[in-house]
Amino acid sequence: MARIAFIGLGNMGRPMAGNLVKAGHTVTGFDLAEANVTAAAADGIQAAESLVAAVDGCDAAITMLPAGPQVADVFGREDGVLANAPSGTLLIDCSTIDVSTSRDVHRLAAGAGCRMVDAPVSGGVGGAEAGTLTFMVGGETEAFASAQPILAAMGKTIVHAGGAGNGQAAKICNNMVLGITMIAVSEAFALADGLGLDRQALFDISSKASGQCWSLTTYCPVPGPVPTSPANRDYQPGFTAAMMLKDLKLAQQAANISGTTTPLGAAAASLYGLFCKGGNETLDFSGIFKMIDVE
Ligand code: NAD
Repeated sequence: MARIAFIGLGNMGRPMAGNLVKAGHTVTGFDLAEANVTAAAADGIQAAESLVAAVDGCDAAITMLPAGPQVADVFGREDGVLANAPSGTLLIDCSTIDVSTSRDVHRLAAGAGCRMVDAPVSGGVGGAEAGTLTFMVGGETEAFASAQPILAAMGKTIVHAGGAGNGQAAKICNNMVLGITMIAVSEAFALADGLGLDRQALFDISSKASGQCWSLTTYCPVPGPVPTSPANRDYQPGFTAAMMLKDLKLAQQAANISGTTTPLGAAAASLYGLFCKGGNETLDFSGIFKMIDVE
């Protein structure tokens, strides 16, 4: 069993760290918010007073932080992970961040004699609690093999997506599809309303026809056809519109840097921007149907 430093004990990090404890690992946790460190102690996560104390003598360090700037800071600062973790430490960044920062951090980690994978997740807080997350992993094959048993304590599906940063690349490509298809399905239901086509009839047909997709069949944005979808609980999340906007912006940033043309991704980012600006950041992202289905 490994000694693991866990940095970032928020909505996702705390239950993930808790599952590592349940699997028998010794976990030392750190978060800027002291209250989160205290709360995590109830799950058997040992409290560290600083980043330096968290990584002291660890075999592996996991980060679950908001975005690229926090990850770069936590890794790169003088009293941060790279300067203080033992040489050879396995670093696992599970945050969703931009591909460029992820690749920069991989380079710094290699320079500091550490092995690293980027391993963003899908599955949300529910998946983190149940230990059923999907991990999309980028990094050297040897680092991936070392990370696999640790990730297995927190998730069900673990996929090696290639070299440094490719886990992040897979995550934003997937979520760009998700954002675009959610808008497409919402527009189809709005058009059905306009044409007097019953929503359930559209669902019954499209879910068996070529319009079939996850946004329709699992996460249907109108109440009724899929009783478990957030539309049936007034769009309580789930996956918030703010998180979707973050991922769509990351996809656009990556598209610009790589010179890739993604007009529908750009349109989706701007529509989710409008939806969030309208005070809907904390609603589930499928709530965009309410903005699209205007009378
Ligand atoms: P969160 O805001 O609940 O947790 C982030 C934690 O990091 C907070 O507790 C914060 O205090 C801590 N933190 C910030 N800066 C820090 C620093 N410099 N040092 C130490 N701690 C610091 O966010 P979350 O929902 O847990 O998401 C974490 C990551 O997972 C994000 O990148 C997000 O995009 C990704 N993600 C979230 C979900 C979800 O449904 N919540 C799903 C998939 C992926």
